[in-house]
Amino acid sequence: MTEVAENLGQIKQAMAAASERSGRSVDAVSLVAVSKTWPVEHVQLAVDAGQMVLGENKLQEGQVKIPAMDPAIEWHYIGGLQRNKVRKVFGLFQYVHSIDSMKLARYADGVAADMGIVPRVLLQVNIGGELSKGGFELDEIRAGFSELVALEHLEVRGLMCIPPAVADPDQVRPFFRAMVHLKDELETKHGVSLPELSMGMSGDFEVAIEEGATMVRVGSSIFGARNYSPR
Ligand SMILES: *Cc1c(COP(=O)(O)O)cnc(C)c1O
Repeated sequence: MTEVAENLGQIKQAMAAASERSGRSVDAVSLVAVSKTWPVEHVQLAVDAGQMVLGENKLQEGQVKIPAMDPAIEWHYIGGLQRNKVRKVFGLFQYVHSIDSMKLARYADGVAADMGIVPRVLLQVNIGGELSKGGFELDEIRAGFSELVALEHLEVRGLMCIPPAVADPDQVRPFFRAMVHLKDELETKHGVSLPELSMGMSGDFEVAIEEGATMVRVGSSIFGARNYSPR
């Protein structure tokens, strides 16, 4: 068995254990394997081990890997999305986690309309209120939500967050909990369903699952530590 396959097995086990601990069904949580920075041959090891949902944070990497790999793979775009990349991202990826402003949402809706598609998207929330991070501020998503769910060419499936970096995974728990509260609040107030909560990465996916994540985005624990320097 390859190391990637072994890592995947361990992550799946840890996901199942976290689901059980919190009284949730094991299939309530899906794994997005984040393959960013890794070449096709290395990513293929995860596909060979049965992982058919992959995540990338750069269009350029998707443009290389997506056409080269099994067309049955579901690709998730998880990175910051610039307007001039929206059309190409929608053309390649099946899911976008990072709609992070009203302006981008309106623009993306127009592009999707023009393309004749209704892509599945998540709204990224700056749950830690960090100046350096993208995402809707809480007051912004509350104020704009009725417009967001009314956009006819975006299927808003839920919320996504990247919480502040902390030393101990337990310190992120309040942020994950705040995401669940926000989701509940928006659902109740607007009478809609937001089935997906994308939260949790290598260092904190178990905590995220305990709190209610339905998608975890795990990269380095599957593929290995990333090396950005040669790029
Ligand atoms: C890179 C990345 C991940 C995965 O991070 P790891 O710590 O390697 O698991 C998850 N989400 C986003 C948005 C990322 O950019």
